[in-house]
Amino acid sequence: MAELDGKTAVITGSSTGLGRAIAERYAAEGATVVTNSQSKARAAEVAEAIREAGGDAIGVEADVTEKSDVAGLVNAAVDEYGALDIMVNNAGTTVEKPLLEQSPEDWRRVLDVNLTGVFFGCQVAGERLINQGGGGQIINMSSIYGAGGVQGRAPYNASKAGIENLTRNAAVEFADHGIHVNALAPGYIKTRLAEAPLGESAGDDLEWPYVDYAEEQIENRTPLGRFGTHEEVTNCAVFLAAGGHYTTGEVLTLDGGWTSFGWGSKSR
Ligand code: NAD
Repeated sequence: MAELDGKTAVITGSSTGLGRAIAERYAAEGATVVTNSQSKARAAEVAEAIREAGGDAIGVEADVTEKSDVAGLVNAAVDEYGALDIMVNNAGTTVEKPLLEQSPEDWRRVLDVNLTGVFFGCQVAGERLINQGGGGQIINMSSIYGAGGVQGRAPYNASKAGIENLTRNAAVEFADHGIHVNALAPGYIKTRLAEAPLGESAGDDLEWPYVDYAEEQIENRTPLGRFGTHEEVTNCAVFLAAGGHYTTGEVLTLDGGWTSFGWGSKSR
């Protein structure tokens, strides 16, 4: 039996990168899946790819900054598959500039997508899971920069710190209903986040687009000596989604030791 047989999952921002990898993996593990993008065509394209691979998925257009759109995602899961079991609040964006150059619009945009979008996801999924009964799993996508600073990412890092305490708060509030709320905090995984939020899904062989460090610096700074893979992220996402754990209100860091390493720019 696959890990997620009989479960239904909604994954926001799942036309590219880690969200897409999670959607494809959940489907491979037996879940029925609602994929999402702000673009109808992209959401549909991922769902189609999952169906071609033998899975069951529908694609739904939604902008996570609109609560009614997020509600539409959960409603689509219930209408199509009868229930919601797993909500992954993954959609994210960034504006990379020094703090002094971030405009009010830059700040609001990043906070709106990354933090308010996750808040709406927790609210809408929490309400559905409570009414449905039987518990469920909510997984919010943070980052190692939920607990650290780096040049050029003030709004992103503030949003991720917010996600981590929102996760703890939702876990406390929903615990009586058997609903677990956890966060994933990946380190460096190759995707197009910094470059093009609507870019193609890149896999692990993408030329590194981030502006903060060169690829080699990241490898040298990471105790495991390499970037994380999409599969390593989806392994953790499956563990949390499958339940059978005593874990809630937790931030699960998957960073090759990046945050454990305490001094200097070279670890190896
Ligand atoms: P990505 O750019 O491929 O994925 C982000 C997705 O969010 C895109 O599919 C985009 O279309 C979607 N999105 C953006 N705004 C949206 C909106 N308003 N409504 C709906 N969808 C929207 O990059 P990624 O690296 O796969 O990022 C996924 C998540 O992982 C993000 O939350 C990111 O912060 C987090 N993360 C990534 C890394 C990494 O190294 N790649 C590390 C830590 C955390």
